[in-house]
Amino acid sequence: KNLLAPTTLQFLRSTNPEAKSEMERMEILADPGFGKHFTDHMVDICWSARGSWHRPRVQPYGPIALDPAAAVLHYGQEVFEGMKAYRHADGSIWTFRPEKNAERMQRSARRMAMPELPTEYFIDSLKEIIKADHAWVPSEPDTSLYLRPFMFAKEAFLGVRPAEKVNYYVIASPAGPYFASGGVVPIKVWLSTNYSRAGKGGTGAAKTGGNYASSLVAQAEAYDNGCDQVLFLDSEEGTYLEELGGMNVVLVYKDGTLVTPESDSILEGITRDSILQLAEDRGHTVERRRVSLEEWREGAASGDIVEAFACGTAAVVTPIALVKSADFEIGSADAPAGELTLSLREELTDIQYGRRDDVHGWMMRL
Ligand code: PMP
Repeated sequence: KNLLAPTTLQFLRSTNPEAKSEMERMEILADPGFGKHFTDHMVDICWSARGSWHRPRVQPYGPIALDPAAAVLHYGQEVFEGMKAYRHADGSIWTFRPEKNAERMQRSARRMAMPELPTEYFIDSLKEIIKADHAWVPSEPDTSLYLRPFMFAKEAFLGVRPAEKVNYYVIASPAGPYFASGGVVPIKVWLSTNYSRAGKGGTGAAKTGGNYASSLVAQAEAYDNGCDQVLFLDSEEGTYLEELGGMNVVLVYKDGTLVTPESDSILEGITRDSILQLAEDRGHTVERRRVSLEEWREGAASGDIVEAFACGTAAVVTPIALVKSADFEIGSADAPAGELTLSLREELTDIQYGRRDDVHGWMMRL
């Protein structure tokens, strides 16, 4: 860590002369969808091996000029994060456990041989984009402003080695309710047996673009089979549950025990960590351990496993109705959402939207 680095950055701010009109913005906020529209500004901080973090800026949202030899375009040296800003009833804007995202991005960066953005800078960057684009945080139920911090290797150099020039950015995109219907719709999950997401010693625990690129054919296979998401197993034995393409998995036993895969090749979800904490607060037993597909199959068949859900920032908590593979199924397509699944979802969203006491101190005002 650079001891000379100041604890806060002085951002240079320039407003967007082509910012969308209020009318355009209101139209977008009335039906934002997900990841389709972007706010008027973005944050940009430079890093160089010789100068560390410098030139923090808030500038108009727009294209990034890249040298065709920029390392990210060839070797994929990139990491990102995903989180949300929530508007509370009094109009204030909050985010959820941002230091956890900052720390995860630092772990991702270490794995990808990239510089670690200090937590204070990460949090400052969120505050800066909200300062510029607060009007873009929607206020309808279950809406939010999705925040996407990311950084990539910008150095123009075709040798394979860690880049000495990296840029960090934050962009923001208004997000409507994940389920268009308003309610919570249980999902169908396709079991991928042809593809793995990550291998031992690989990059599975890092939030890096390549993991998502490699999941796309498996995700396409899921769609082809009428499913919404893909479930990956461990790459060595093909026996143990890992996670979905973009969410973690939790199983619920009849006795109230929650079980979730422990693996060094999955992304440590902040939603999962929080949901499991809430369950523990209620007195549930939580087990983080290896869990096989066979355990799920047998447990569901015998009635010992009564609920299963996926969790992540975008969809919060989503019941899993069905797991489908080429030769068997677990559950059924029309299975209703589990009771515990729904009540944990409600408790977490109540905290995030300021409708319930934040006893763990998870919320940070932006
Ligand atoms: N696994 C993967 C592969 C993901 O992309 C995500 C979404 N970031 C998650 C799990 C859930 O993480 P979080 O709860 O922090 O959003």
